[in-house]
This record gives sequence, structure tokens and C-alpha cells, in this order.
Amino acid sequence: MKNILKVDKIEKYYGNKGNITKAIDNISFTVDKGEFVGIMGPSGSGKTTLLNCISTIDKVTTGHIRISDVDITELKGKKLESFRQKELGFIFQDFNLLDTLTAYENIALALTIQNIAPDEIHNRIQAAAEKLEIRDVLKKYPFQMSGGQKQRVASARALISEPSLILADEPTGALDSKSSRLLLSSFEKLNGELLSTILMVTHDAFTASYAKRILFIKDGRIFNELIRGKDSRKEFFNKIIEVVTLLGGDIGDVI
Ligand code: ADP
Ligand code: MG
Repeated sequence: MKNILKVDKIEKYYGNKGNITKAIDNISFTVDKGEFVGIMGPSGSGKTTLLNCISTIDKVTTGHIRISDVDITELKGKKLESFRQKELGFIFQDFNLLDTLTAYENIALALTIQNIAPDEIHNRIQAAAEKLEIRDVLKKYPFQMSGGQKQRVASARALISEPSLILADEPTGALDSKSSRLLLSSFEKLNGELLSTILMVTHDAFTASYAKRILFIKDGRIFNELIRGKDSRKEFFNKIIEVVTLLGGDIGDVI
């Protein structure tokens, strides 16, 4: 299968002489098309830094990151901006919807900036709304929606431009358990039916158990990898808890 993402020996340092934090310490891994990969690790282990480097929000200190065969560590300015719009979809913990736009308009925005025709936009939004069960909130503004609905609208916005890679940082962090389940089953659907490639950072073992493979990081390095294989989600969850315990994380932190 083809690599959508290739992270090659990256390091990230923050600060300057005398006061340096090594947030990422020589990480390499690849993600194939259609994979659903989780990244777990204790607080401060470098998860967000890693995701920010992949999402082009931050720059690596050394090493290379290729997405769909483009080396993003070498992209700048307009090229970087257009790459981000076309190839990446983002889902954040706090949704990042625009308050003055309806759900429909929030989702459409990702396509209007790419000059896609209104009819095509309409069709794509209807299809996404169906998949994510948000048809009845399309005319609503964010303040009229529940947290779970907002996050499913944000997910529709992330996938509507058919990006090569969907990046999610703690997507269930602000959701109750029922909304989390609904969101995560939509992720499973997007991954299973549309073959969307998803990379999701979470410190929550339940959320992580929906992924098919998990990379564990500690002190900026990959510490372990778990592959779900034929395990049920419950079995996978139990294996995740074992690794988290080994990692020395606070167990109360992850359940
Ligand atoms: P996680 O998301 O796993 O909690 P982060 O990637 O946010 O971890 O942080 C990894 C390490 O890098 C931590 O030690 C953190 O303090 C440090 N760090 C993160 N961002 C910055 C920054 N902008 N400036 C300095 N240090 C940072
Ligand atoms: Mg973080």
C-alpha cells in the first residue's frame, strides 16, 4: 500500500542556548492510505508538537515529513497554504467553528476558498451530512448546537475537501461519553467506507481503541506500537491500558 505520510528522523527543539527542550527526539514512522492511526502518550511527551509539525503549523528542527510524496518541510508561503487547503483536514479539541456562520456555511467555506461550484458544494455537503448525522443542524449556528454536533460539523468540514490526511488533536477532549461514541463511530465509518486516512492524537484509551494502530510516545520518542488486528475494540482497549500502565502514565488520566 502507498504511504500517505512518511515521517523521517524528525527532531524538534524549543528554546535557545542554555534553555533547550527536546520535544521530539528522532521519530520516524509511516502511515498508509486508509489507515486509522492513534498517537498516545503522557502529558508533555510531544504529541501536539508532532501533530503540529505534520500539520505544517510548526516546523521541525531536523528531518523530513512527506505527505503524498511532497516534502512539507521544504514548502513555504502560498505553496504551503494551498497544500494545507487541498491535502489536509483538521479536527481540533475545541471545534474551531466560526460563530457567525451556520453549520452549512462553516463546512462550505473549505470548498469556496478552493473555487468549487455551488452545486458541487451542495452535493458534497448533503453526502457528508448524511454520513455524520448532522442533516438537521445544517441551518443552525454553533451556539444552537451540542458539543457532539459541533464536532461532527467540524469533522464534515475536515473531510469535505477530500484531503489525503485527516489530523485530529484530542477530538473527544471536550465531549461527553455519548457524543464521543457517536463521533468515533463516524470516524470508523469515514475510515472504513471512504478510506479516509486518519491520524488522531489522544491521551484517552477509550478514544484510542477506535484506531487500528497506535503509536505510543514518551519523552519525544516512539516507545511502543500496538496493532488491533482481529481484536475486538474491548480487547484492544485492554491492551492499550496495559501499555499505558507500562508507560508510567497516570491511569486515572486515561480512562
Ligand atoms: P503533549 O501534547 O504530549 O502534552 P507537547 O507536544 O505539547 O506535549 O510538549 C512536548 C514538550 O515540549 C513539553 O516539554 C513542552 O513543555 C514543550 N513545548 C511544547 N511547546 C513548546 C513551546 N512552544 N515552547 C517551548 N516548549 C514547548
Ligand atoms: Mg497536547
